[in-house]
Amino acid sequence: MSCPTAQKDIFSIYSYQGTPVVGKTAGLLPSSMEDKKIFMQILDAELSFKGSFQVRAKTEKIVIHHSASSIDTRINDVHHWHQSRGWIGIGYHYLIYNNGNIYIGRPEWAVGAHAFQDAAHEANSNGIAICLIGNFEYQKPSEAQIIKLITLIRNIWERYPNLPVIGHKDLMATACPGPKFPWPDLYAKLQKELIVVALEKWMTEGGQTALKELTQKGLVNNPEQWQSEEKMAEAVPLYLFWMMINRISNYKGA
Ligand SMILES: [Zn+2]
Repeated sequence: MSCPTAQKDIFSIYSYQGTPVVGKTAGLLPSSMEDKKIFMQILDAELSFKGSFQVRAKTEKIVIHHSASSIDTRINDVHHWHQSRGWIGIGYHYLIYNNGNIYIGRPEWAVGAHAFQDAAHEANSNGIAICLIGNFEYQKPSEAQIIKLITLIRNIWERYPNLPVIGHKDLMATACPGPKFPWPDLYAKLQKELIVVALEKWMTEGGQTALKELTQKGLVNNPEQWQSEEKMAEAVPLYLFWMMINRISNYKGA
């Protein structure tokens, strides 16, 4: 570890992210299943739907909504509102409470009922809907909601890589999710998540290759010592450093 200053700076890319940090490697390396449970606890209110779901044929976007209601609104309230419109039940796939609790609405694979104006302005057939409880015409989402939203989007990206994230308002004439919704902040944080996702992928799929190269260049003495999870945590800054050097040299060469 010959470059402590650079390592520290590079490490800060990682330490700033929306996901809760559990343990020393959490959020940095591909998490153990136990970590994932903590990251992504999704609650199930066991709603009963008045009919069956249709399988969504394509998935092209994540659509953000607000409930346009009090922060005390619960998933059963939304479920009943939507049933009173003649729908089989809640139209969203996920709901995030003000305290950050995430609930499952419709199954993620199902056609939703959350964005339809006409055939050209709709996302029921091709979108995953996430609704944040609250009315963002008047107040911002809570910090816990944004953190969980980013965590959830990152989790969805594991199944649908890099799916665009848009607002209901981007599809049709509506204010949803409200003018106080912090789009620049969300996009900046998602950008950082994309970097983390790319780095994790690189470390899982390209890490061993990089390790060999590091060894050949004399930067790592004993490859075996880096292969336990604990040692991997120590190796992260070195990996990042190595990757950045590669990116810089690729950039120069382009
Ligand atoms: Zn909406």
